[in-house]
Amino acid sequence: YQKSKDLLDRASQVLAGGVSSEFRKYNHPHAIFYTHGEGTRIYDVDGNAYLDFTLSQGPLIVGHSHPRVLEAVENYSKDGQLFAGQHIKEIELAEKLQQLIPSAELMRFCLDGSEAVQTAFRIARAKTGKHKFLRFEGHYHGWLDNVAWGISTASVEALGNEDDPNVFPWSAGLSPNSKDDFIVLPWNDLALVERIVAEKHNELAAIITEPIMCNNGCIVPHEGFLQGLRTICNRYGIALIFDEVITGFRLGLGGAQQYYDVTPDLSIFAKAIASGYPISAIVGKKEWMEEIVSARVIHAGTMNTSNPTVAAALATISVLEQDSDTHNRMFRLGNRLISGLREAAKQTGQNLQVQGPGPMFNTAFTSLSAIKNYRDTFQTDKIKLKQFIAGLHDRGIRVIGRGLWYISAVHTEEDIDHAINVSETVLKEIE
Ligand code: PMP
Repeated sequence: YQKSKDLLDRASQVLAGGVSSEFRKYNHPHAIFYTHGEGTRIYDVDGNAYLDFTLSQGPLIVGHSHPRVLEAVENYSKDGQLFAGQHIKEIELAEKLQQLIPSAELMRFCLDGSEAVQTAFRIARAKTGKHKFLRFEGHYHGWLDNVAWGISTASVEALGNEDDPNVFPWSAGLSPNSKDDFIVLPWNDLALVERIVAEKHNELAAIITEPIMCNNGCIVPHEGFLQGLRTICNRYGIALIFDEVITGFRLGLGGAQQYYDVTPDLSIFAKAIASGYPISAIVGKKEWMEEIVSARVIHAGTMNTSNPTVAAALATISVLEQDSDTHNRMFRLGNRLISGLREAAKQTGQNLQVQGPGPMFNTAFTSLSAIKNYRDTFQTDKIKLKQFIAGLHDRGIRVIGRGLWYISAVHTEEDIDHAINVSETVLKEIE
């Protein structure tokens, strides 16, 4: 890893904080730098290859450097950079999403998930005339000021010291009043949501939720929970916002809203929509998106919908659509890996707990039979997880440091079986 080590010295001179801290999760003494990725493999500067289940934090749903995505980006780039709307491809993409996503009557494009979340908040406030949001513990909605208050992955270590963990900031420098935007509740407790909304609906503009709590534990909704949120929002005329940044395109082309058959008023798609090229969509029912149509709500952004990003989105969707079995396959492969990991845990006597729908899932070390809410994640053994993730990395398999695995449309059965075998070897070594 000498080349990576040298690059870290160079990076530290110009990049504040050096580089991403993800390498610490791999128990590595220093960061590793990567040169390129292809399909399901990623390569580092010292010539090591890795089977990749991080997919660059999720977006690479058709794998690294998919030739059709690259070709589309190259072709459309030749048109010159046509920014800020007013080119045909943007309409084509919107038409495509309108066909695919059940609630997408109208939409707008932004650069990333965080911006689209804030746009949804703005629309919800404009239409309801109310200013607060109900959100859930352990759900991540980006890194901008208001959503960076509250329980989050980064606050876990520090939580024990806080009197009120619901308002723990995981960054310095946040606008001090932005925490007042939120009421934070545990997820999957419909009776509690009903009670609190009945009390506070006069202040609430929206409920925002990840349809699956992907960022902490990969917890699926209880049966009827999402539908219950829908009913509550209808009752009080507040917006139901689905943050589909992870679930979108991953559970199916219509996202979690199609998978669970619950239609939100507004939803956010990012990550996989364009294989990681910077574009996100805020989509929704006409009566809510109308706030933008009427120009009551400003939506701007110089860089929105540049041709390469729109091209990448159209190409990614077309690759996913070309084979009607794509999503079933991702479920099958994911579930094969989940079963294999559970079996390997049994064989090695490790308390590895694996849960999630298949195309993404979470691994944790815990005696709990299931992680049912965010606070359960505090009871997982972070040291063992680190040994596991680091052991996999040393043997050429990359998994997101907090234990999340993503399956792409280009992973193969051999990749899955290889990952199971290597996991078993690593599990044997963990003390
Ligand atoms: N919502 C969810 C559910 C996410 O997982 C993320 C990113 N991990 C975001 C919002 C923010 O998206 P972005 O990083 O594109 O700003």
